[in-house]
Amino acid sequence: MRQPVVFIGHGSPMNAIEENKYSYLWAKIGRMFKPKSILMISAHWYKDGFRTQSAISPEKINDMYGFPEALYETEYAVKGDSKLTERVQAVLGDEVTIDDSWGIDHGAWSVLIHMFSKAEIPVVQLSVNNNVEHGHLFEMGMKLSALRDEGVMIIGSGNIVHNLSMVNPRMEKGYEWAERFDKDIMKAIKQHRYFDCINYSKFRMAAEMSVPSTDHYLPLLYVLGAARKDDKLSVFNEGCTMGGMSMTSYLFDKKLTL
Ligand code: ZN
Repeated sequence: MRQPVVFIGHGSPMNAIEENKYSYLWAKIGRMFKPKSILMISAHWYKDGFRTQSAISPEKINDMYGFPEALYETEYAVKGDSKLTERVQAVLGDEVTIDDSWGIDHGAWSVLIHMFSKAEIPVVQLSVNNNVEHGHLFEMGMKLSALRDEGVMIIGSGNIVHNLSMVNPRMEKGYEWAERFDKDIMKAIKQHRYFDCINYSKFRMAAEMSVPSTDHYLPLLYVLGAARKDDKLSVFNEGCTMGGMSMTSYLFDKKLTL
C-alpha cells in the first residue's frame, strides 16, 4: 500500500525528550502508518551532492552542542535497509553515491524517537544537496515518489523558517516576517503552486530572513516532488515559535488525514 510523504518541522533537538504538542503528532503518525522502511532527508546531512547510506546498523550521530546530557544519552539503534539503498540508487541514477561516513542524525532521530519509538522500521538517509538548482531537488523527489508504492515512507525533516540568529526562546510565536513567509508557503502548497516554493526568493525580505541558509528549507522540495495529485494534504503543527522558527508540517497521503 502506498505510504505517505511527510515534511516535518523538527525545531529544537529538545523535542526528542519532551512530550509536547509537536511530539504528540509525530507519535500519532507512527500509529497511523506501518511502512517497510523510511527514507529520511534530514537538514543536518547537507552536502555538495546526493549521498545515501548502506550501513547495516547506522550509527546515531549526536550532531548538536550545548544541550543537557539526557539528550545525548537517548538511544536510537535502528537498522539500515540494503534493498532501499539499491532502490534509491536505481531511481536516482548516477548522481547519487554511497557515503557511510554519516549515520542517523538528530534531524532524523529526534522525530523518529517519538514516531517509531522501538526503532523497528529501518532507516536510510539521503543528503540535502546544496550544489544543484532547487528545481532539481523537486525533480529528484518526483523520482523518489515511486518508492512510496513499495512501502517506503519518505520524510523530509527541516523547518520552513529557520533563523537561529533570531531565535528567542521567550517568544511563543514568530516575528511578523516569519509568520508571513510560513503562511505564504502554506498557501502555495495548498494551491499546488509548487513553483513558488522552489522559487521562494520571490517572497523577498521575508524569505531572506526565514531562509538565511537553505539546509532546513530544502527537504521540503524533495517532499513536494514526491507528493501526488491524488494525495490528501494534512497541515499540522502549524505556525512559528521562538521568533525565528516555524514548526509547520505537511503530510501527503492517498487516504488518511491527521
Ligand atoms: Zn535542525
